Amino acid sequence: MERNSILDFSRNERKRVKENLFGRVGLVHAKTTSKDDLEELLDSPFEWDQAVAYVYCRKCATMPEINSELAAHLALSGGFLLPESMDCMYFELASCMLCSSETTGIVLKQIE
Ligand SMILES: [Zn+2]
Repeated sequence: MERNSILDFSRNERKRVKENLFGRVGLVHAKTTSKDDLEELLDSPFEWDQAVAYVYCRKCATMPEINSELAAHLALSGGFLLPESMDCMYFELASCMLCSSETTGIVLKQIE
């Protein structure tokens, strides 16, 4: 079964995912449907006080806020170093733990 949104997950599955990689995630924003939606969300302030960056998944279009621990983990997995400041930066993924069994295609992008 192809899953397209976090809303497709049962409570238990969401809990399981949360206990894995996404245990270090704050609010997961609703699915973005257009480039304008994405840009608007990237420009909006975080709702989680521990958040340092947004992550955007190209496959399922969910966009969680993440803390510094998960940012470091994503950078390590993606094989790059984190910049000193995450201001105006966000992570983009080809797939994530919510829509696939693994997180792939991790890149750091500048918010335009
Ligand atoms: Zn995803």
